[in-house]
Amino acid sequence: MRSYSLLAPAKINLYLEIIGDRPDGYHELAMVLQSIDLADRIDLRPIGTDTIRVRCDHPQVPPDKNNLAYRAADLLAKQFPDALARYGGIEIVIHKQIPVAAGLAGGSANAAAVLVGIDLLWELGLTQSELQELGATLGSDVPFCIAGGTALATGRGEKLSPLPDLDGFCVVLAKYRNLSISTAWAYQTYRQKFGSTYCPPEDLECRRERLHSGPMVGAIAHKDRSKIGQLLHNDLEKVALPVYEQVLQLRQAFESVSVLGAMMSGSGPTVFALVESRAAALEVEAKVKSAIALPIWIFG
Ligand code: ATP
Repeated sequence: MRSYSLLAPAKINLYLEIIGDRPDGYHELAMVLQSIDLADRIDLRPIGTDTIRVRCDHPQVPPDKNNLAYRAADLLAKQFPDALARYGGIEIVIHKQIPVAAGLAGGSANAAAVLVGIDLLWELGLTQSELQELGATLGSDVPFCIAGGTALATGRGEKLSPLPDLDGFCVVLAKYRNLSISTAWAYQTYRQKFGSTYCPPEDLECRRERLHSGPMVGAIAHKDRSKIGQLLHNDLEKVALPVYEQVLQLRQAFESVSVLGAMMSGSGPTVFALVESRAAALEVEAKVKSAIALPIWIFG
């Protein structure tokens, strides 16, 4: 039987707005998500036993049932026991390139790649929306990671409307090596601080009024690069920047050089900047690195 090697690209949030509470306890969100070239590689190999094994040499990535890639494989094994019996178990090897707990959806990207890969390996013939429906049970970012590209994500992040591809941009990413932020902490702290301003789940009018993602979606539709840069937004910065001074410093370092815009991605601590060319990206890298010594990635 064949083996598969898949790329699992990271995402950044060009826009992240918290609208209110949902009856299921999650937050109601409006996000614009963009996949980037930074990616893990996932190797899937059939094994003789009917088990699922995960290998990853990154110290922060659990090599067991807590791994989202494992949970994706286990989900398909439970949904399709005949395929597991016919094709046998799977070894998942994760070659980590995406920083962990960095607001780049590394775990979700791995789960998405495993769903897509096992669908091929076991010849399940699932459609993209069937894979996304399964993915949504694993994590809110998994459906987007299956589709990739540029999309408006609503609900808890699982309802997707594709947007035109963004071209002509370079993304510069930077992160302090030993800094990570828990997504759960970021959302819980946001709820503690701003929960009293949330729209109640049943008040659709309040929700419509709160939503401000329209101008960003319009700027993307018109490919207006400087407007996209100006409209970058992330509500979670309100809780992360006051606590994580390094993230604030990094954002300021990006903003002090000429970029279209800079923002923390997701729950952080990765900060990204949008620039118009590779030459501009290299210039930004050199200037930020001379101020702060830390890993920087350039894509696009
Ligand atoms: P998100 O923005 O989707 O919440 P993130 O990018 O901030 O996620 P991840 O890199 O997905 O964060 O890691 C979050 C946590 O998930 C880590 O603490 C890590 O131990 C755990 N984890 C489980 N499976 C994986 C995986 N395959 N890759 C990375 N982390 C994983």
